Amino acid sequence: MTTATSQAITVPTKWRRSPLARTGRGAGWIAAAAGIGLAVTLALTVQSETLGALSAPGGVLTALGRVTGMVGAYLLLVLVVVVGRLPALERAVGQDRLVRWHRLLGPWPLLLIGAHGILITLGYAAQDGQGAPSEFFDLLTTYPGVLAATAGFGLLAMAGVTSYRKVRRRMAHETWWAVHLYTYLGLAISFSHQLATGASFVGHPVARAWWIGLWLGSAGIVLAYRVGLPVLRSLRHALRVESVERVAPGCVTVICRGRSLDRLPFRGGQFLQWRFLQRGLWWQAHPYSASAMPDRSRIRLTVKDLGDHGAALARIRPGTRVAFEGPYGVFTDDVRQTERVLLVGGGVGAAPLLALLEDQPAGVDPVVILRGSTADDLVLHAEFAELVSRRGGELHELVGPRQEVAIDAAAILRLVPDLRERDVYICGPTGFADSVAASARLAGVPQAHIHREEFEL
Ligand SMILES: Cc1cc2nc3c(=O)[nH]c(=O)nc-3n(C[C@H](O)[C@H](O)[C@H](O)COP(=O)(O)OP(=O)(O)OC[C@H]3O[C@@H](n4cnc5c(N)ncnc54)[C@H](O)[C@@H]3O)c2cc1C
Repeated sequence: MTTATSQAITVPTKWRRSPLARTGRGAGWIAAAAGIGLAVTLALTVQSETLGALSAPGGVLTALGRVTGMVGAYLLLVLVVVVGRLPALERAVGQDRLVRWHRLLGPWPLLLIGAHGILITLGYAAQDGQGAPSEFFDLLTTYPGVLAATAGFGLLAMAGVTSYRKVRRRMAHETWWAVHLYTYLGLAISFSHQLATGASFVGHPVARAWWIGLWLGSAGIVLAYRVGLPVLRSLRHALRVESVERVAPGCVTVICRGRSLDRLPFRGGQFLQWRFLQRGLWWQAHPYSASAMPDRSRIRLTVKDLGDHGAALARIRPGTRVAFEGPYGVFTDDVRQTERVLLVGGGVGAAPLLALLEDQPAGVDPVVILRGSTADDLVLHAEFAELVSRRGGELHELVGPRQEVAIDAAAILRLVPDLRERDVYICGPTGFADSVAASARLAGVPQAHIHREEFEL
């Protein structure tokens, strides 16, 4: 273990909360808005039912079919909006948590829409006095848009199945992503049958306006923030690879040059989705954190070649154009609650921490712990040493095998006796981040003061 500098600052611990901070309240407001939307959708669906229709043969099944269909479709829109890169949502909740919500909620609309198809078929079959298979055939061939909606459901189901953890693990990320893209097509081709055949809309202009508004609003969010904004920013900042430098074994720093990068709404610790427009790479976007605060003309990323893309970046040609999406992420100074921080980085996990440290106000007292199996794994350590020393903080470099150089609660407390008074920012492999977070909690750091960046979405 080496301690590069050790000069502690005594700054009174002050509690603060930035308006951008990811808070339970932000998530609460979003859940409340989604709940209100669901209640309106349900109310508009139920009001279109009549006692006469309910008491007719198959009436209850058909009504249940309509409710499951409407709720399922509404939840699909929620799923789309949650990952629609809406800046306010990204700031209040963070992309990692939004993706987790998307994943958790994902199966429900599929189950509800599947139930909708079955219930409507059974209800109509009872009403028409025929068997379910021939009713299903009639629905497909004579009702406007039902065939397209069934095909759309197939596309959604494919995205659902390939997102199942065990299946997804066996697929390349890009294959999974391409299958997921078809969900937009699935949604688009299922829309027409809702308005054409949905009893909640025929003769109900308010319900119709509400539903069209929801769909147009969701489509607008996706087009504006997943397509329009990234294209505009990529054109505006015109990034090109300037240089690629090997900074450690299997680890490169890529510097990109562009225009007016100081105008990007970037906070230290955030990441971008990078698309290097070179043959064989242009169709893949990968998330990498900026490993320094961008200046007017340069932004930088530091990448470990853990897979195909990382390895390809080591060979990327200077001059290659770069498109990007973002910046994203809430692993920033906005979530800080105190005036002291502990930054803990494992391997290339140090990258966002360096930009975060650069971005923190001068009054913040930093302690940095970098962890690596060998000294070569301490990515960017010279820059940390310089920055920490300039700010009068402390840098601890823990080098050695995990069994010999532990990073448990006792070890961290020995290095950082005032740990409880600090915000703890952790970035590194999942096992490492889990263990440091558990140690921090054990040492008495409140959960709200522990911030993690997962290199996994
Ligand atoms: C928020 C965030 C910030 C990151 N910052 C950095 C960084 O600064 N430096 C760094 O070296 N790594 C970073 N990563 C990790 C990096 O994105 C992955 O290692 C890289 O995308 C893997 O791609 P590959 O083709 O090299 O490897 P593969 O072997 O294809 O994949 C390895 C793992 O990465 C996942 N993955 C692959 N492609 C993507 C993708 N497009 N989006 C999300 N996950 C994907 C796979 O599911 C798999 O689990 C970050 C990841 C995230 C989520």
